[in-house]
Amino acid sequence: CGVYGVLAAGQQVANLTYFGLYALQHRGQESAGIAVFDAHQQVRLHKDMGLVSQVFDQQVLERMPGDLAIGHNRYSTTGSSKVCNAQPVVLNTRLGPFALAHNGNLVNAAQLREELRAIASELTSTTDSELIAFALQQAVNDGLSWDQAIRRAAARCRGAFSLVIGTPEGLFALRDGHGIRPLVFGHLGEPHQGHWVVSSETCGLDIIGAAYNDDVQPGEIIHFLQGDPSPQRSRWCEEPAKLCVFEMIYFARPDSRFFGESLYSYRVRIGEVLARETPIDADIVIGVPDSGIPAAIGYSQVSGIPFADGLIKNRYVGRTFIQPTQAMREAGIRVKLNPLPDVLAGKRVVVIDDSIVRGTTSRKLVAALRDAGATEVHMRISSPAVTHPCFYGIDTDTQDHLIAARLTLEEITSHLGVDSLAYLSKEGMVEAAQAESSHFCTACFDGQYPIEMDESVRSSKLM
Ligand code: 5GP
Ligand code: SF4
Ligand code: MG
Repeated sequence: CGVYGVLAAGQQVANLTYFGLYALQHRGQESAGIAVFDAHQQVRLHKDMGLVSQVFDQQVLERMPGDLAIGHNRYSTTGSSKVCNAQPVVLNTRLGPFALAHNGNLVNAAQLREELRAIASELTSTTDSELIAFALQQAVNDGLSWDQAIRRAAARCRGAFSLVIGTPEGLFALRDGHGIRPLVFGHLGEPHQGHWVVSSETCGLDIIGAAYNDDVQPGEIIHFLQGDPSPQRSRWCEEPAKLCVFEMIYFARPDSRFFGESLYSYRVRIGEVLARETPIDADIVIGVPDSGIPAAIGYSQVSGIPFADGLIKNRYVGRTFIQPTQAMREAGIRVKLNPLPDVLAGKRVVVIDDSIVRGTTSRKLVAALRDAGATEVHMRISSPAVTHPCFYGIDTDTQDHLIAARLTLEEITSHLGVDSLAYLSKEGMVEAAQAESSHFCTACFDGQYPIEMDESVRSSKLM
């Protein structure tokens, strides 16, 4: 999911949030929502199924005046694809309303749901995000301040959660102790104006001209007050950092910056490492658009094999992987990519993709490259084999659907119909980042889950 928050007196915060969500559209395409606090601390909420540009138009945004807005793009990992599961979640408390947007996935949701059922008879959705909101409502109604209540609610949650919360006392941003999902903040205009923006990724700051201040750190809670040039930053929890490495490899936008550089640069560099680790003799290197292109450029630079555009992507097709059903996914792949026979015919081709998950995309792709005249197809993947499902907010499916969990490298090679197949090493992947290599979650590649899941959660996805 994508989460966003703007606190800026006198600015059209609903419009700014619309643009922020537009930049974060890749993080979720199922539903979009914005909640705005007006001058009387009343909240107007608009959310619906669909893309940001389908859910909002100028008329809707004009009916949402105010100084504080929270936004959300949903990518379904838990709960079904229904409008009641759209966010932000808005609830009332004895201190007034709040609006909450969540990115991540809890792994103790069933237990939390049991605990909350007594007070929250009106649990309407099937998402873990709503549970966090009810835990917060309960803590406020028990007499705590916003800051204390958010800490208490967070302490009841186990799993991945980057949260943006709007309250009558300003804007809060928080990350779980491991910081599995990203979250950054910046300011609009001059720093002394105290106009604050919180976004899942830096591309959400760039689009409205906000300047980056810092990441919300793992285990940190930040309280932004209207017009206050210095937000109150503190730790609510201490744990080792474990950023999702898949954000780096695939999920986040290439122009978003992590550890001081764009992911584009990181992805070119892992393509370079891949070329050193898995060399092959060939005529051209192509990338699977869009996610495989930067690594293909890196592979080409190190191997000396010319880079070419061998596949053209329909710009108006979303991420195939993100569609909820397998049938939709398969239909999506056929309309997404078209090979260029003029480029491919008679060539030995190295094709680079960022990951193989189920193997559906790659198998069709290889057949299409051969149809277009490629004489050899060598597949190189700029991440290690995905052998384990994600429980923390990326929809990598159950383990039995992961091709590398069931088949050996040789079997995958023949299943995909490639002449050779090789993956990036785990060391290559983490060492290429400008960060401490222990600071990543790499569980989908090695099964080392940093956060223990409830047994019911674990058995729902692991073979
Ligand atoms: P497959 O057909 O192997 O399941 O899909 C792998 C392709 O899906 C890659 O090209 C990758 O870019 C894309 N993809 C889209 N969404 C995701 C995701 O959430 N995780 C992963 N690993 N790959 C995804
Ligand atoms: Fe990311 Fe994989 Fe860890 Fe999930 S299991 S948080 S996708 S690295
Ligand atoms: Mg891809």
